[in-house]
Formats: sequence, C-alpha cells, structure tokens
Amino acid sequence: MERNPYFSQVASRYLFQEVRNRKNEFLNRNPRAKLISLGIGDTTEPIAPHICSGLIHGATALGKKESYVGYGPEQGIGEFRQGISERIYQKRVTAKEIFISDGAKCDIGRLQILFGQQMRVALQDPAYPAYLDTSIIHHGNQHITYLPCNPENNFLFDVSLAEEANVLFICSPNNPTGAVLTHQELQTIVDFARSGKKIIIFDAAYSFYIPKESKLPRSIYEVAGAKEVAIEVGSFSKIAGFSGVRLGWSVVPEELVYTTGEKVHDDWMRTITTFYNGASYISQQGGLACVSDKGLQEIDEQVAFYLGNTKALRKTFIDLGYETYGGEYAPYLWIRFKGKSSWQAFDALLEQAHIITTPGSGFGAHGEGFLRISGFGSKPTIEEAIQRLSLLKK
Ligand code: PLP
Repeated sequence: MERNPYFSQVASRYLFQEVRNRKNEFLNRNPRAKLISLGIGDTTEPIAPHICSGLIHGATALGKKESYVGYGPEQGIGEFRQGISERIYQKRVTAKEIFISDGAKCDIGRLQILFGQQMRVALQDPAYPAYLDTSIIHHGNQHITYLPCNPENNFLFDVSLAEEANVLFICSPNNPTGAVLTHQELQTIVDFARSGKKIIIFDAAYSFYIPKESKLPRSIYEVAGAKEVAIEVGSFSKIAGFSGVRLGWSVVPEELVYTTGEKVHDDWMRTITTFYNGASYISQQGGLACVSDKGLQEIDEQVAFYLGNTKALRKTFIDLGYETYGGEYAPYLWIRFKGKSSWQAFDALLEQAHIITTPGSGFGAHGEGFLRISGFGSKPTIEEAIQRLSLLKK
C-alpha cells in the first residue's frame, strides 16, 4: 500500500522537536541550569474543586451497578449540550447544534472530512499549526492562502486575499499573537464569507480570556449572519485545565449549507457517528460541572490567574523596551526582536535568562522575528521568570 502522499508535505514541521534539541544541548553544556519554560502553551494549575468533583462523580458512578453507563449519546449528554447553549452561548445556538468532543484539535482534524477535494484553505499567518497540517494531510498543500497578520496591519488580515479560498480558519483570541477581532472586524469577515459562499471555522479555544466587560465578541455567533457560514470550535483545555482530561465541542448551525445546498449539520452528525463514539462519560460529568454557576466561577478565577501572569510578563517586556503584543485578552505574548531571527531570539533568552520560549517562525513565515511567550505557569515560576527577564540586556 502506498503512503498518503500528503504526509511528506507536512513532515518537515519539527518545531517542538527542535526546541527540545536546543534545550538538551544547552543542558549538556550547563547541567546545573534551572530552566523555566514559557514555551509550550500547556496549563499548570490543578483542576478547581467543584469541577474536579464532577469528574470524580463521573468515575464513581461508573463503579456502581445502579449508575453504570456504557456508550453515551454520540453527540454528547443532552443536559451538558443544553448547559453550553445557555451558559456559554446565551442560547444563540441550540443544544441540537452543539456536538461534544474530546477536544478542539481533534475536531479541527475531523472537520476536514466534511470538505471535498476542491477545498481551498485560507488561514492567518502566523497560526496554530493544526489548521495547516490537518488541511495538508487531507487535501495536500496546493491550495493554501496565507493571510499575513502583523503589527503593521494590527493583526487584522486583508480578507479579500481569501477570494480563492472556500474554507477560512480564524482564531480569536489568537494563538500565537494574542490578537482579538472586534465585532466590526468579524462582521466584515462574515459578510465576505456569505457573499462568496465560504465556510469559516472559528476557533474560540481562548474565548473566556476575553473579559465580559470588554464587550469584544467571545463567539462568532455574536455577529449577524454568522450561523449561515460559520462552524465554531471550543475547548475546556485552557479554561478549566482539561488539556489532559480532553473535552471540547463544535457548533455546527442548522442554517449552514454547502454550495450544493445540503446541510453541513447532517454530515457532521454522520461523521461523528461513524468515526467517534462520543466524549468520555467522566469528562462530560466534569464538563457539566464547568457549566454550573460554581464551575463558571472557577473557570473565571483560573483564567484570571493565567491572565495575571501574562499581564505581569507583558509589563516586564514593555518596561525592557520590547515591541510587545497580545497578552491582554489571551494567555500569549507576541514579542518582536528587532534585528534577530526567531531562533536567534530563542537562543538569546535561553542563554541569558535560561528561559524556553517558542520561536514565532514555527507558526508561519510572518512569525519570523517574533517569539511567543506563554503565561501558563505557577506563580513562583512566573515571578522567577520576571526576575530573570528584568536583568536582561536588550
Ligand atoms: N485551538 C487552539 C488555538 C489552541 O491553541 C489549542 C491548544 O493549544 C487547541 C485548539 C487545542 O485544544 P484541545 O486541547 O481542546 O484539543
């Protein structure tokens, strides 16, 4: 059997492997160094008590004859979908339009199954790598449009560049730049997609990092007409510490149709019932706790903690005189190192402050010259990082 030829088109993306190599090489030279990682964007804080009690309740129920359950509904537990509809979407989308999953990344990959071989993708550059890699593995790299996002355009891409595309990946708050799209900006993108019969995949994995008072949109469905053109993916990973538990969702509105008129909702139902038997009962019990009053409060507190870290790091870089972006409504900072490539900047922070970061060039060509700094870390780690950074010479 031949290999899927598209794998050879993604094979060269070894960002985190290269980060590991450089880290190991540094540790060989400096075995006593205590490295701090502000690189990989993974959560560090324990799951909050009420949410954790939901997980425990799920596990306990499975251990008793009277409450044991096997396979659940493939689309997810009804009460949980209803909870997401009411508490996260204020009923802008219905429970029927919500599909529970084992995470946003898993859904980003599976969504590719919906699209025919004529799929032409447009994505922000820089971008979370899963959009590009899953597109290439399914459809090859012939039809990819990159939408540059940089300080010069205020991280707002020129959507008209996506004229040729029929699927647009958009992430707000953005990983890696931390930029957030306004209602007006999202409206322009939605109107463009409506006029060109394109589908938007909107990644809202960091939506809770937008404070409600800011009035910025947490969901694409806050914008008129979005249900005709957009699928939204969401995740409990970065808001409730579920990156290891694995729980997310996708919203596929009933209004959304292909150019040929069939409902995308029907095919997504077909996809998940064919490829997937639903998210685990235990994680969904944790999810139910997430969408309760107490759970939402715990989510807000955990998000506020990581945002506090990110803002403190942001201030440090600004005080040092670096061009610093993001970090207000996202757990990531995007920092330009004038006159240095991303890898040179990575090496400089590693050598001078013993801090691991993520080279911006790993997120796309327009990330060159930037580093992504993550605010995920314990309090002492972030304090130590700030102290080391403050001693840095630019
Ligand atoms: N989307 C974005 C933009 C992310 O940054 C991440 C994780 O870093 C994910 C999705 C993955 O989410 P999940 O853990 O739910 O698969």
